[in-house]
Amino acid sequence: MGDMIKAALDELSEHDVDSVEELTLVIGDLTNLGTDQLSFAFEIMSRDTILADAKLVIERETIRLRCRECDFDGPAEILRSEGYDHSVPVLACPVCGGPVNVTEGMACMIRSLKIKEATDVQI
Ligand SMILES: [Zn+2]
Repeated sequence: MGDMIKAALDELSEHDVDSVEELTLVIGDLTNLGTDQLSFAFEIMSRDTILADAKLVIERETIRLRCRECDFDGPAEILRSEGYDHSVPVLACPVCGGPVNVTEGMACMIRSLKIKEATDVQI
């Protein structure tokens, strides 16, 4: 999260930006980064920066697998335990149980920054 904020600030410092309206992140379900956790980290790290007033939008990327044994290509099976917030993805082919490659779900990046438009300069 810290790296992403830093990258966003670096990018913004190259432009003449006064404030940012919205910051959209894509976070894969396999990263184990919870939305609450990210919002909290963002609040702390954006303090006193031009991101301080930005709204944080988090898009989750679900886990997608491709089987190395059969042709399966689709979402991972998720085990949910009652009473717990955590869900555990099964990283094996739901069809044949074979080994898989994870094709989606590991994202941890900035998708977009919405910058507040500068107001017209009055002469
Ligand atoms: Zn398979």
